Amino acid sequence: MTQDVSISPELIGQLIDGTIDNDNAQRLLRLERKDKGRFFQYIEALQQRVAWKEKILLRLGDKLYIVASAPGQRIVKCACGHEFGDYRQNWKLGCRVRVKRSLDDMLTVYDPAPACPEPDIQEIREFFCPACATQHAVEVVAPGYPVVFEMLPDLDKFYREYLGQPLPDEGTDWYQDRSDDVTREWAKAG
Ligand SMILES: [Zn+2]
Repeated sequence: MTQDVSISPELIGQLIDGTIDNDNAQRLLRLERKDKGRFFQYIEALQQRVAWKEKILLRLGDKLYIVASAPGQRIVKCACGHEFGDYRQNWKLGCRVRVKRSLDDMLTVYDPAPACPEPDIQEIREFFCPACATQHAVEVVAPGYPVVFEMLPDLDKFYREYLGQPLPDEGTDWYQDRSDDVTREWAKAG
């Protein structure tokens, strides 16, 4: 096992792809935590794995990213290229959704049966990209419960205060939940 503390782009790539070996995984775990450069190495490796050019600001899921699509625009984008819109609006509202309500339906994804949610008290919602059908999220909630907004990051605070590299379109109105704008439009469309 090497004592080299540098991390190659190949190693970061193996970490992302899940092919890293145990020795190297242990070595990464032992490195100094506050190594800010590693975040940008990670972003660069992610960027090489997508077919589009918009700059990735943060990864939300295996195939889901917040990207800077144009000056002053931060949107959620699927690896396939589908754009969900402004990252302040819950991207799940732009998904195809499958809801499992019956015990039979739930048992298709739960095993063993005792682990299964209880019909009428809970439902399983599966969220898919409308373009490539990647399943981006699953939530188990009470029927009627609002769609869960899993993560609204304060990107400006993260880039300025943690990474020390403020974003060029930094502003005070980024860190706001704008999901209501979407449902308001739905209500108008009736
Ligand atoms: Zn997609």
